Amino acid sequence: MERKQFELGDVVQMKKPHPCGKNEMEVIRMGMDIRIKCVGCKHSVLIPRAKFEKNLKKVLRAAADRKEAGGEAASS
Ligand SMILES: [Zn+2]
Repeated sequence: MERKQFELGDVVQMKKPHPCGKNEMEVIRMGMDIRIKCVGCKHSVLIPRAKFEKNLKKVLRAAADRKEAGGEAASS
């Protein structure tokens, strides 16, 4: 099985839409757990990476597509 690729800032579609009716979530935190924010109601949830990958349907928009000139080189 191919592993789904996603990055911080990507907008993804989950298998189940959010209760508010919107099925677009933005990845706002990466780590052992993934925090995603609903684009519709701005509600954010923290879910384990394994569960996130299981429920991820597809990446709608990659972060790189939106920010073309990534000026802020965040290398902490
Ligand atoms: Zn929502």
